[in-house]
Order: sequence, then C-alpha cells, then structure tokens
Amino acid sequence: MREALAASVGTSQMGMEADSEHAADRIAAMAFGPRLGSLLIRYRDANQRRWEREAVAMIAHRVVRAHKISQQIGLAVARCALIEWSQPQCSTCRGAREMMGASLKIACHDCAGSGVRRYTDIERHRVIGAWGGRVARGYDLALATITNAVMTTTGVTRAQLERDKI
Ligand SMILES: [Zn+2]
Repeated sequence: MREALAASVGTSQMGMEADSEHAADRIAAMAFGPRLGSLLIRYRDANQRRWEREAVAMIAHRVVRAHKISQQIGLAVARCALIEWSQPQCSTCRGAREMMGASLKIACHDCAGSGVRRYTDIERHRVIGAWGGRVARGYDLALATITNAVMTTTGVTRAQLERDKI
C-alpha cells in the first residue's frame, strides 16, 4: 500500500522517515473515497446525528491502524475531530475573520484571521483524555481524513453535476 502510494507521488523513501510517514498518511486519507465524505456532509449540513457513529468508526479505524493507538482513544480522537470540523466558526468573530478596530478592520486575534475556531491542544487533551505523540499525530490524521473525504465527495458531486448539464 505504502509502495503504491509512494509510486503515485514519485517519492521513493517512504516508510522510514517521519515526514514521509506523514505524507503517506495524508495520501491514504485522500484515498478514503466518497462514502465517508457523504456521511460527514449529511452529519454537518443536515444535522443528522445518525450518521455520526459510522463516520466516527471509519475515522477511528484509520487512526488506530496508522498510529497504533487504542480503540478507545481512536474513537475519542475521531469524535473530537468531528466536533472541531463540524463546528468550525470562531466564537469571537463568528467566522467573519476580522474585527473592527478603532479606525480599520483587523484580523481576529482568536483565530488569526482564519474565521475558524482552532481548538487548543489543552482542549483536545481534555476531550480525548490523552494527548501528545501518537495521539496528536492521530488527531492530525483524523482532521486530514475528514477534510479530504469531504473534498473528494464535493469534487465527485461537482463532476457529476457538470456531466449531467451536457
Ligand atoms: Zn475569529
């Protein structure tokens, strides 16, 4: 699997080095396909909690396998990442990315102008019950898995819409 991924991106030394491991994880996340993405979009946009369990299980499965963490922590990591992704608005600027200063608009301090609420590692630690090392790397993978799955699904849907127009 890693060899195939390495070949597909023209990288020869995957597996040993941490950065390459990380790259392989990200590519593997991209390959997750539309199923997870459609679950996630329904979960977020239609507020359909019944999709949560399957989405969390899929994300956790990948995180547990990739980073050798326990099933329990893997599920907690997946759940926390899902919350962070589905409730992304910065609570200070409400997603507007900027605030009105005395005479000009300034980038929101709390989200550094991203409009997105980034959870702190302390918050993540509290929600998950563990942090650092493999758990932190697993969390990165969980977030990457989510965003890539949604991008894949959105891309597939857009391509289908384009094709149907013709
Ligand atoms: Zn903000």
